[in-house]
Amino acid sequence: MIDERRVALWRDGEVLTAKPDEPVVTAFDLGLGRGDGVFESVLVVGGSTPHLDAHLARLARSAAVLSLADPGERAWRALVGSVLAGWPAEVEGACRLFLTRGLGEGSAPTVLALLAPVTGEVLRQRTEGIAAVTLSLGVPAGFRAQAPWLLGGAKTLSYAVNMAALRHAHTLGADDVVLTSLEGRLLEGPTSTVVWSTGGVLHTPPLDTGILAGTTMQRLFARAAQAGRPTAVTPGTVADLHRADAVWLVSGIRGAAAVHTLDGVRRGDAGLSAEVRELLAR
Ligand code: PLP
Repeated sequence: MIDERRVALWRDGEVLTAKPDEPVVTAFDLGLGRGDGVFESVLVVGGSTPHLDAHLARLARSAAVLSLADPGERAWRALVGSVLAGWPAEVEGACRLFLTRGLGEGSAPTVLALLAPVTGEVLRQRTEGIAAVTLSLGVPAGFRAQAPWLLGGAKTLSYAVNMAALRHAHTLGADDVVLTSLEGRLLEGPTSTVVWSTGGVLHTPPLDTGILAGTTMQRLFARAAQAGRPTAVTPGTVADLHRADAVWLVSGIRGAAAVHTLDGVRRGDAGLSAEVRELLAR
């Protein structure tokens, strides 16, 4: 595995590159001080980004929700092209796109692309599966749809709560988290979408709960439908996950990670993970 990391930034209408340890934002950047920005994590495989379009579409939506000045698709594609140039095809990478409010007050936004190899731990979880615990987010399932200030559905840089949930899971001996609403409805993982299979149907929770529209889940469901496997948007509970034939946390970089243990209870995947991975790989 290479440990190369790359950085490119968009400034005054052009791409600049920077060394990975070189400062690229000022100490007053509102992305740094307030988490006031949005981001995307895009898989690099075979030296390219096959799913970039879906990520750029979501980045534009997130930027609009936060009223951020989006530099536009041409800038993002130029940045991605810059960090990807000469990247070895055999090394999977995670390309992160960041857009912050910069210094605020109408100043130029901060626009960055980073690229680093996918970590060994992510690759391990993709193949070996994960132990997950359920944790409450403490918000009613219907609340965020009527509370635009909570930024439901936007992929903001304010991920401290998501990271704290993961650390809490680690203290419980688990790898990951299924967040639930105040009433116990399924929401999402801190960095993933919840998908489960019951009676041959793939399910995922509704977006009006304020969760992120996962690009990987959407690709999986589109391909499942094409392959004749039914899909459904279902307001499930933790009990539904325990009853399910299989449960995955799906996301762009890790793919479909099978949940082999939920709240300390071992569970199987009824041999369905191979099919799900095959659908995602198409
Ligand atoms: N939900 C949250 C909160 C996330 O951070 C992510 C990861 O980006 C996802 C869902 C899954 O999205 P995607 O499949 O586009 O990676």
